[in-house]
Amino acid sequence: MSKMAEIFRTMEYGPAPEAADYVLDWLKSKKGSFKHYINGEFVSGKGKPKTIETFNPATGEKLGAFPAAGRADVDAAVEAANAAFPSWSGLSGHQRARYLYALARLVQKNSRFLAVLESLDNGKPIRETRDIDIPLVARHFYHHAGWAQLMEQEFPDHEPLGVVGQIIPWNFPLLMLAWKIAPAIAAGNCVVLKPAEYTSLTALYFAELCKEAEAPPGVINIVTGAGATGALIVEHPDIAKIAFTGSTEVGRIIRKATAGSGKKLSLELGGKSPFIIFEDADLDGAIEGLVDAIWFNQGQVCCAGSRLLVEESIAEDVTQKIKRRLKSFRIGDPLDKAIDMGAIIDPVQRDRIQTLVAQGAKEGGEVWSPNIAMPENGCFFPPTLISNVSPSNIVAREEIFGPVLVSMTFRTLKEAVALANNTRYGLAATIWSENINRALEAASQMKAGVVWINTTNGFDAACGFGGYRESGFGREGGREGMYEYVKPRKEWGAAEKPSPAPKITATSGVIEIDQTPKQFIGGKQKRPDWARTIPVATHDGKYAGRVALGNRKDIRDAVEAAFNAESWAASTGHARAQILYFIAENFSRRANEFARRLTELTGASKAEAKTETDATISRLFSYGAWADKFDGLAHSPPQRNVVLAVNEPIGIIGITCPDASPLLSFVSLWAPVFAMGNRCVIVPSERYALIATDFYQVLETSDVPAGVINIVTGERATLTKTLAEHAQVDAIWHHGPADESKLVEALSADNLKRTWTSGGKSRDWMSAKTGEGREFLRRACEVKNIWLPYGD
Ligand code: NDP
Repeated sequence: MSKMAEIFRTMEYGPAPEAADYVLDWLKSKKGSFKHYINGEFVSGKGKPKTIETFNPATGEKLGAFPAAGRADVDAAVEAANAAFPSWSGLSGHQRARYLYALARLVQKNSRFLAVLESLDNGKPIRETRDIDIPLVARHFYHHAGWAQLMEQEFPDHEPLGVVGQIIPWNFPLLMLAWKIAPAIAAGNCVVLKPAEYTSLTALYFAELCKEAEAPPGVINIVTGAGATGALIVEHPDIAKIAFTGSTEVGRIIRKATAGSGKKLSLELGGKSPFIIFEDADLDGAIEGLVDAIWFNQGQVCCAGSRLLVEESIAEDVTQKIKRRLKSFRIGDPLDKAIDMGAIIDPVQRDRIQTLVAQGAKEGGEVWSPNIAMPENGCFFPPTLISNVSPSNIVAREEIFGPVLVSMTFRTLKEAVALANNTRYGLAATIWSENINRALEAASQMKAGVVWINTTNGFDAACGFGGYRESGFGREGGREGMYEYVKPRKEWGAAEKPSPAPKITATSGVIEIDQTPKQFIGGKQKRPDWARTIPVATHDGKYAGRVALGNRKDIRDAVEAAFNAESWAASTGHARAQILYFIAENFSRRANEFARRLTELTGASKAEAKTETDATISRLFSYGAWADKFDGLAHSPPQRNVVLAVNEPIGIIGITCPDASPLLSFVSLWAPVFAMGNRCVIVPSERYALIATDFYQVLETSDVPAGVINIVTGERATLTKTLAEHAQVDAIWHHGPADESKLVEALSADNLKRTWTSGGKSRDWMSAKTGEGREFLRRACEVKNIWLPYGD
């Protein structure tokens, strides 16, 4: 029987190897040793660097070795980047676009080489590197060539940051490099990037492409090394921003290490993403989606759909279909074009997967793997399904980062949503249902940065990607990704001058009836927990009144009230606008009273006080205006999808107010938070707290729902610390001294709060450019990208 006839009879796959000889020749030409790429040159490590060897995970063969960069190498790279920054950032957007365009073209021209090299180094199937990783790398450079071109028009009043340190993991080596480098250099920054120690080869080949593109020396620097090199980059004083992708654990370390440094930070961390199948789903489509969600790249994907949530009525059917599908899985040589799964990155990772699976079984999970051929050598792990898993099982909670799916069932949409959100992560979610209303309802309730409906693992350079909660903060891709690499040209002023309270030596005589000092919690005036108050002085040392001295318990109560006001997130922009206008209306009736209070407390002249109250009314109007206008976007990525980039509230935001322009700054901070549907706990200026306590009387008469705005007065430093430690607070906006900003950032590492801190600097609250607008609104939102495919 001819070979062809035999194949038709058995329908067995024959071997379909991709040629690798020219890539192996390139590796050989390096004589087993690679160099850093610094200032446009390939340089050996300084001193006597440790050497890191890199292996093909599918065979265990050594592919090469490279130096682990030490302090002197990182210093040299940062110095080169700093030196290149003025001229690179000084180029026109168009000039920078030409370089990005050249890089995109070079990636395309070398695409097969890069795909093979990536498969060799990482162990992922050539089918994926060829059809997904490398095309997306090129797409990223093309897309960001476009942003470079449009910088001046699309990001007016913004400027690049300087030198950006970038640290990437091993699961998508070249793709993560592109996600990091393309937006950074498009915006005019220079970069120092460290690839993962397991997978540095495509980054080093990319460095050769940078040379070929004649990218100016110092704009792109690549230093190889392990975690210690990453730490040197993180700590470097001349770096303006750190962009990191990797584990949540290291993300926390970096959050702490950068606290108080003034470095901008974006973290793309782990996930435990749900894959929800409703009973009305197209089951065959859903199963293929699931295969892609969890067995793509051997499950070593931060957004892997690793938790299957399936409606009880179809659970058995789904399980059988998954098992049938896995029985035909082909695992083996990543360079074979017809395999489903390649190798696990390293024995260390395989052992970690194995340990977690064993623990999951101990905790009651039923572990199943198909009885299929496994390669004898190399680092492989079979596709695995763990059913009968309770939400508390370790395999349902921890990121396994391997080809392991855990499955659970649900009965109602409500239960599906509760299970899906029952995780500290929030990177992605997949929903499979033929009922578009149900799917969108579930999507709206997902606490995740990306939601795929009837599709999964959709990525595109135009669509933002990034997490909620402990999956990190910041976005990569699209317009929101570009904001991570620029800053407003004018944001902060000189160091904030403290406003010390004068010693009280007399009564003012202004307040005729003594006020009862209270906190404003859950829409009510509440006595402070320990019934203590502190006096407030006028500007000239007279007694102006007393305010409550809040403590940890008051903050706890305020956060609880904010938590219970969650329905505010679902209110419409129109409703929020109406309330903001109503607050402005009620405030304006009492504007003279507030002006008097400002004069009395701050010593402002009558005219100055009137300017501040007028500006306050205008600001409330501004956010009334914005409340139904700060909309998201609809993207059209190359595949047949509509991607809805929706601006969602973050949740509970803690706000610490400065002393400067105490009325206006107080309103300027909570109004955007409120307008975007967040709830807040505000610690007003300690010195001028009476303004905030006066203001809650306005809030009480303006239909503000209970718990949406909470005000706790007292010692700013103590209350701020409690807010920063609180696990239910999702973000902190801190205005105060530099050491306090540092503490806020460090304490926020625990639940990875989004932080916006002044670092002791001042802000011009009177100016509409620096005191209000899009920057505030962006800081008050998470962007959720909802992917909707169309067509048959
Ligand atoms: P890490 O988070 O440790 O590594 C990511 C990158 O950070 C690598 O380049 C690493 O260096 C570097 N790094 C490590 N420690 C530090 C540090 N203290 N300061 C600065 N940089 C540092 O992930 P691993 O590769 O070690 O994988 C561990 C686990 O993390 C995996 O099992 C998986 O669960 C998860 N993971 C999640 C990813 C995600 O995207 N969500 C990606 C990768 C891993 P190097 O590795 O070169 O030593």
